[in-house]
Amino acid sequence: MPTKVIMGSKCIEENSALLKTYGKKAMIVTGRRSAKLNGSQDDVILALRKEGIDYVIYDQVMSNPTIECAYEGAALAREEEVDFIIAIGGGSPIDGAKAMALLAKQDIEEEALFSGQYACEVLPLIAVPTTAGTGSEVTQYSILTNDKAETKSGLATPLIFPQIAFMDARYMRGLSVKVTINTGIDALSHAVEGLLSVKASPMSDVLALKSTEMVLETVTAMFNAIETPSLEPFSLEIREKLMMASMYAGMVIAQTGTTAVHAMGYSLTYFRHIDHGRANGLLLGHFLKLVEKAQPALIKRIIDAMKLNSVDEYIELMTKLFGEKEAMVVEEIEKYSEKAMGTGNIRNCVIVPTKEDLITVYRAAFAV
Ligand code: NAP
Ligand code: FE
Repeated sequence: MPTKVIMGSKCIEENSALLKTYGKKAMIVTGRRSAKLNGSQDDVILALRKEGIDYVIYDQVMSNPTIECAYEGAALAREEEVDFIIAIGGGSPIDGAKAMALLAKQDIEEEALFSGQYACEVLPLIAVPTTAGTGSEVTQYSILTNDKAETKSGLATPLIFPQIAFMDARYMRGLSVKVTINTGIDALSHAVEGLLSVKASPMSDVLALKSTEMVLETVTAMFNAIETPSLEPFSLEIREKLMMASMYAGMVIAQTGTTAVHAMGYSLTYFRHIDHGRANGLLLGHFLKLVEKAQPALIKRIIDAMKLNSVDEYIELMTKLFGEKEAMVVEEIEKYSEKAMGTGNIRNCVIVPTKEDLITVYRAAFAV
């Protein structure tokens, strides 16, 4: 994993000298609001000023960023002749910025964007994650909303690994309980899917089991936060644990990729606007039940790392955490299953599910 990870309070301020290595002008990429409110953008600007680095800001990245957004940001980077990009935010701005870093240096037609065939040029990228979930700060993936394919597609190339990840959990103080839970469960899904992957290795398993254990250690705090509303619903210690767990899980999927759970979740986000982490969290338990039939020992390892007794116990936990589920009809489930079968992630799992298996998982997850 080539990214240099620097973690801790004030880590940007204390390591600003590193920025000088990347050039004289930066483009800061963010979502529309949060980076301005949580202190992260101010810290980055202070560090740039201290090092005498000029900057422009692109702050139009939406959740589940579109291909158009990536091209728009890349055009600004070209016009402004920036030397590097600093992405601040959740997975959406970081993923958007990764595609911008590539498109700012290469003319890639939209049809070839997900081909994996690129020249070597890319702008260096620095990531400042402000959610704890996607692990995008340590992966080579950029997930974009692909309207032509009616799904979310992954651009994957080692070129877009961030050079540095600055991880300061203070920026998450005001992150809502809902986004904290959704993103935390996305991290859990990455760790568990890493364990289910045909590309899993002893090294990725160590990180995945640790990450699984750490996310589960925060679940009591998640329930407390739901029950007792507060401006700062989680302690810094819990925030740091989630941040570390999601980073470990990012390192896992950088090696293993994700599996059927993410493939199935993308349709729920694309067609039903269900948050990415929530979609994965609701599907995961029912997919584990499917794998358990063929690989009970593997599933026992996962459930043991969660310090639970059964997959049913995990499903019960998620049901409590996520509250009422969205209503689904059989026809849409058929369509989503068909779409998921067409993805590469499906063949990445130790058991290769059939379309009927996926229909069973969706139906069980949404009680259809
Ligand atoms: P997100 O879409 O980046 O952010 C969700 C919401 O949280 C936004 O409204 C954002 O506001 C707000 N927010 C972010 N940080 C905040 C903070 N510190 N305080 C308060 N509000 C904050 O959500 P995400 O779950 O992190 O990222 C999801 C995306 O990542 C999806 O597109 C998913 O497919 C992708 N993903 C990528 C990978 C990968 O390996 N690259 C892996 C998994 C998922 P603003 O918009 O105002 O910033
Ligand atoms: Fe994910």
